[in-house]
Amino acid sequence: MTRLIFLGPPGAGKGTQAKTLAQHLNIPHISTGDILRQAMKEQTPLGIKAQGYMDKGELVPDKLVEDLVSERLQQADTHSGWILDGFPRTVNQAVFLDKLLHTLAQGGEKVVNLEVPDDVVVARLLERGRKDDTEEVIRTRLQVYRTETAPLIDYYRDRQQLLLINGNQSQEEVNNELEKAIAS
Ligand code: AMP
Repeated sequence: MTRLIFLGPPGAGKGTQAKTLAQHLNIPHISTGDILRQAMKEQTPLGIKAQGYMDKGELVPDKLVEDLVSERLQQADTHSGWILDGFPRTVNQAVFLDKLLHTLAQGGEKVVNLEVPDDVVVARLLERGRKDDTEEVIRTRLQVYRTETAPLIDYYRDRQQLLLINGNQSQEEVNNELEKAIAS
């Protein structure tokens, strides 16, 4: 049973690593960003509500993502574990998740923080060229990361759930370090 939360700044390689590891462990990779992008593409009510925030690089309101995570973690495929990628993004969301996991009798989750220096993050984001990766949006997303999401590192460190991984190495090396860290 593996339950993992992936933290790390945008461009740290979270998505790629989370996806690879989830496939390897045969557990669902739950990316709130992917779910929101899909909802936007399909213009569902959720997608329409999220669009303006996402286009600017801002966080969508907690309630929207909390509802979607709550629903997702109650689906049958999560019984064997999961990897959450991009959630929680704020301390409020982390508190919500604690309560949710308690209610669902799911626990023992570890938190992976992929550490990558700022200049590497910016270079990678510019290279990626996603629709929400223009320079101005990137600046906003990094700012939001620093003020809203980075405090989660201390939050989970205090609770002794944190695994620190060097994200500034090849994908394969990151993957190896990750697999070792979660096995120990
Ligand atoms: P990501 O693919 O994780 O970089 O997420 C892309 C965008 O989706 C973010 O810039 C936010 O606008 C939105 N988003 C994803 N996850 C969350 C979350 N947990 N809380 C608020 N907004 C989120």
